[in-house]
Amino acid sequence: MAFTANYQIEETPCGTRFTFLCDVTGKPVCTTPPIRANSPEEALAQARSGAREYFNRCQRCNRWISDDAYDIDEMVCVKCKGNLL
Ligand SMILES: [Zn+2]
Repeated sequence: MAFTANYQIEETPCGTRFTFLCDVTGKPVCTTPPIRANSPEEALAQARSGAREYFNRCQRCNRWISDDAYDIDEMVCVKCKGNLL
C-alpha cells in the first residue's frame, strides 16, 4: 500500500523539508530533516519512507491517520468509527 499522506514542502538552504499531514484532521504528524536528492521525486520518496512509521492506515477508508485520530482496537480512523456507531 503506497504511502500517500498529504504533505507540505519547505525549502531550506540544506535541502527540502517535508511535513506530512493526517488525512482526517489535517494536522501535521511529522516533519523530516532537510533532504538533498537528485530530483524532487527522489526527495519525496525518501521523505515518505521515513514518515510512514508515524502513521496508521485506516482499514476501511485506507487513509493515512495520526495516532490521535486512530482507533487501534478497531484499526479504523475516528471518522469511520463514527460512521459505524
Ligand atoms: Zn477511515
